[in-house]
Amino acid sequence: MPRALLTLLRQVLWKDRPIYAHYGLTHRCNLRCAMCTIREQTPGEELGLDRILILFKHLRDLGGRFLSVGGGEPLVREDLPEVLEGLAGLGYRVRLLSNGSLLDEARLAGLLRTGVRDFSISLDTLEPELYDRICGTRGMLPTVLANVSRLARAVRFEGGLVVLNCVLSRLNLREVGTLHDYAHSLGARISFLALEGRLADAWHFGPENRSELESTFHRLLSLKRRRGNALFNSSAYLRLLRLRLLGLHAPWPCHAGRFYVSVDPSGGIAPCHGLPLSAGWLSSGTHEFTPWRPVTSRPLCPGCLRPCWTEVSLAFSDPRSLLEAALLWRQHRTARGRA
Ligand code: SF4
Ligand code: SF4
Repeated sequence: MPRALLTLLRQVLWKDRPIYAHYGLTHRCNLRCAMCTIREQTPGEELGLDRILILFKHLRDLGGRFLSVGGGEPLVREDLPEVLEGLAGLGYRVRLLSNGSLLDEARLAGLLRTGVRDFSISLDTLEPELYDRICGTRGMLPTVLANVSRLARAVRFEGGLVVLNCVLSRLNLREVGTLHDYAHSLGARISFLALEGRLADAWHFGPENRSELESTFHRLLSLKRRRGNALFNSSAYLRLLRLRLLGLHAPWPCHAGRFYVSVDPSGGIAPCHGLPLSAGWLSSGTHEFTPWRPVTSRPLCPGCLRPCWTEVSLAFSDPRSLLEAALLWRQHRTARGRA
């Protein structure tokens, strides 16, 4: 589809509608990942179920359809099943983002009863010692892998989708192929992403990693062209990720505040995780709510390459990314039909 037609379609169908939202249900987390800054942010008061539903009904009425619920770690909230059930009941297609460590058999059964079938699980390594170093844990990896394996079996049987989110750093670059094959063996997908946190400098790639990075991305892009691969990233995203990890400018057409928004635990709404709040509950003691208005001009942003934000934008602006997303969707539907 020509780019101009895609742009026209985008403006007619989705102009200034936040069709996708990320909801950080809580800033609390049971892990202590070295690169994480989320759990140190001012937590604010987490919304109760009634306020969550009012807020997301508002966003749904503005055009919201897709929702990722993360944290922190959302499973620290005991009422997570009720929250997910309520959000799905509003008509959202909900994806749960988790570190996987608390997703035992009982919690999983409770979540599946809500109807949610799409999960993203953080997994940066299959090496136990490295996992502990990255996530600040002791001996946690076997539990996470057992939970991921159970989740993948259950969700595939239910016709859902599991994506492993892997933050690439020079600590785990050598594992890219192994992690891909692991996801493939589970019938899951894998998404590689850039390190955005505070250890970005210490863990970042230097000139000495350049040839390994180049050969890794050459392999990933070849793999993406092959049938039956487990990559969730679009080719365009992988090319941007290569640039970012090489320390080069990685431009993409960000639509934060127009097609997607970010909601924090206390109900504040911002164009994205990196920009100031623009709407939401005024304070926990009031019933006043500032409605969302699409952002027409953004202040200078700190820049990022968060896959969900970037991939949505690419699907709206790059015909090949849209085609790859459609193919992924079709494969997923086919797998669902077989389940
Ligand atoms: S699992 Fe996520 S929220 Fe928790 S410490 Fe790690 S990066 Fe932060
Ligand atoms: S940080 Fe910048 S590039 Fe990233 S989503 Fe926000 S506005 Fe877009």
